[in-house]
Amino acid sequence: MISYDQDGASVTARLASGEKVTGSLLIGADGLWSNIRKQVTADGPPRVSGHTTYRSVNSDRADAGRSALERGDAVGRTEMPHRALSAVGLEGVQPRRHLYNDAGEPVAGQPVSEQEVMKGFAHLHERARNIIRHGKNWKLWVLCDRDPTERWIDGRVALLGDAATRCCNIFAQGACQAMEDAVCLSHMLGSHPDEFATALEKYRRQRFPRTARVQLLSRAIGEHIYHPSGEHARLRNAIMSAKSSEDWYRDLAWLYGGTGLGVNSSCPALCPPSLKLRRTGIEPVEASA
Ligand SMILES: Cc1cc2nc3c(=O)[nH]c(=O)nc-3n(C[C@H](O)[C@H](O)[C@H](O)COP(=O)(O)OP(=O)(O)OC[C@H]3O[C@@H](n4cnc5c(N)ncnc54)[C@H](O)[C@@H]3O)c2cc1C
Repeated sequence: MISYDQDGASVTARLASGEKVTGSLLIGADGLWSNIRKQVTADGPPRVSGHTTYRSVNSDRADAGRSALERGDAVGRTEMPHRALSAVGLEGVQPRRHLYNDAGEPVAGQPVSEQEVMKGFAHLHERARNIIRHGKNWKLWVLCDRDPTERWIDGRVALLGDAATRCCNIFAQGACQAMEDAVCLSHMLGSHPDEFATALEKYRRQRFPRTARVQLLSRAIGEHIYHPSGEHARLRNAIMSAKSSEDWYRDLAWLYGGTGLGVNSSCPALCPPSLKLRRTGIEPVEASA
């Protein structure tokens, strides 16, 4: 899709093929480099974070019964639903001011050799370096994100997912937020079938505080938790070690303590507890804290 036009009655998407598609609404779910966002917000390209992440997949079934550290995938691990596809995520995330990889250009899924990955992790314990040896077909991403903006809607056009709120995937939340967006939008459209402007505005108002919080927190985690050094690292260690498990659960209840659509999803006033998600059958679960 290249661009869109709209009038009071419909919106028309213009495709690269020259074809035009007309409908009642256009949902811009076209990712980080969204063409639809270019028109809706006109806020320029994404921000290159300077953080680099290397990813690989360990599909070795023989590894399945061993502990994460024995397998060598204890750091930045991402479990997939199927054991044989359990994913090894080694996130070599480096703040800009650290010299390891002050990446300045966006990169997505570029193949990279094991030796290249190993270079940045020479300081790790041998067992942790096994993470890299267990991986196959390593790939590299230079992470990009967006500043939060409330401009998600333009008439009959709404943004969703990365197109609206791309965050650094340091917090592993981008796809989660995109799915929450979709459920929320579906509910709002179902609740206001003949009032698309109301539905889109309610969707935007409900989703913005939570997704903005995720965007900003993702940046803060990258800067203050992943790889600080010296005094910065000592401060991080002091703050984090002073918290109990309960403290952590409580601190993150706004994110993980419900469906993301309930009253504690980040801003209590925006989503009443009685909200029922008619189309999905999902009912919001309230955070306990
Ligand atoms: C290395 C890495 C690790 C990640 N890890 C996690 C994680 O652990 N947990 C998590 O929740 N998230 C994670 N994410 C983030 C997650 O992948 C994204 O947030 C999520 O895919 C966003 O979904 P989306 O549907 O908005 O966009 P996308 O998945 O990018 O989908 C956009 C779609 O639009 C299409 N498109 C693009 N432009 C056009 C156009 N002009 N016309 C028509 N179609 C178009 C694309 O081909 C694509 O199919 C990670 C991201 C990266 C890069």
